Amino acid sequence: MNEHALVQNLPLRPKGTGLYFDHHATTPVDPRVAEVAVRMMVEEFGNANGVENIHGERAASAVAQSKDRVAQLLRAEPDDVSFTSGSTEAIQLAIAHSISNHRGPLRIAISRAEHKAVIDTALRAERLGLAHTSWIEIDAKAQLDLESYRRILKEGVDLVCVMSANNEVGTVYPIDTIVRKANVHGADTLVDATQAIGRLPLNLGELGASYVILSGHKIYGPKGTGALISPIFDHSSVFGLQGAHHPTPNVSGIAALGFACELMELEGEAETVRLSKLRDSLQDRLCELVPGLIVNGDEVNRLPHNLHVSAPGAPNDVVLSRLRGKVSISTGSACNTGAQEPSHVLRAMGLPNSQIESCLRIGLGRTTTADDVERAAIEIASAINDVRNSLSGVIDV
Ligand code: PLP
Repeated sequence: MNEHALVQNLPLRPKGTGLYFDHHATTPVDPRVAEVAVRMMVEEFGNANGVENIHGERAASAVAQSKDRVAQLLRAEPDDVSFTSGSTEAIQLAIAHSISNHRGPLRIAISRAEHKAVIDTALRAERLGLAHTSWIEIDAKAQLDLESYRRILKEGVDLVCVMSANNEVGTVYPIDTIVRKANVHGADTLVDATQAIGRLPLNLGELGASYVILSGHKIYGPKGTGALISPIFDHSSVFGLQGAHHPTPNVSGIAALGFACELMELEGEAETVRLSKLRDSLQDRLCELVPGLIVNGDEVNRLPHNLHVSAPGAPNDVVLSRLRGKVSISTGSACNTGAQEPSHVLRAMGLPNSQIESCLRIGLGRTTTADDVERAAIEIASAINDVRNSLSGVIDV
């Protein structure tokens, strides 16, 4: 019988028309991962909290195996892994834990490039009088301004929040340096590895970060799964209002997340090489086809599957609507309701409005082929060029 017969025998195929180039927003579940999830739901349905019988024991051992797999990918300790519903919940838990671990308002330093999940949590804590926020500035490539970081560390900080790679422009951060400097100043660190996980090496054994977070749906796992990995978090947790009762674990989702991490461990490096080549050829093709196209971010230190461009004179909402049903890409800064907002990251990079208003985020993924890249380049370029032509004379480019 075929290895993935269960999923292949179901009429399951990704729906939605056109090419999918929005892998920073979410990834399709890998059929091998889906197979694990379905098997766990049907075959291993026991309650992992109720280990009084064989069904509960098997479910609990699936959760333990998943901790091993997450820990293996990050070179962390399995006991340091807690499962969450995704990165946002892991961030909220980490910041709440840090608040409960410090006296007085928590002094949080946040890079201007952080995801809204970090920024909103910190600002809410500040509004509640539980935190005080300072900002680490970024430069035109979205790299951290190390001088501003040094200044904040000197002033005194309890928790530094820096992502390992940016979800909009793909800039990769020197996490080792940032964590080391924070440790020297006695500050804890929260590393949002949501976009980098499995794509860039991350060795928590060596890094010494206090909290690291990841999300299943960015690595071909199910939505509603994620993890907080922390050597200081109390994983049997009694803090805040959490009592002794623990919610019943989402065993199928947790097992699928663990397997998604294992696939990243086995295939992530090769995928990084393959996708960065495809990304480079997409970039070259688009630059050929679109006059004056600007590539944003740090072209040297960049996520392998990320391409972020601006085409001044072609407002991105109009370009996206031309591409609807043909190629799915995004601006990268849509809020929870899906509404587009000017990106706080591009603003902090100091980009001109013409670049911000025309920015497009393109994310390649596991199933992207060279043929997809060529077709996407042609569709995206004609959408931009058509929009520019139709608007020329209407707006000043
Ligand atoms: N952090 C980063 C860098 C992200 O890209 C995202 C999602 O886009 C999140 C956090 C939030 O992740 P989740 O959807 O798992 O809550």
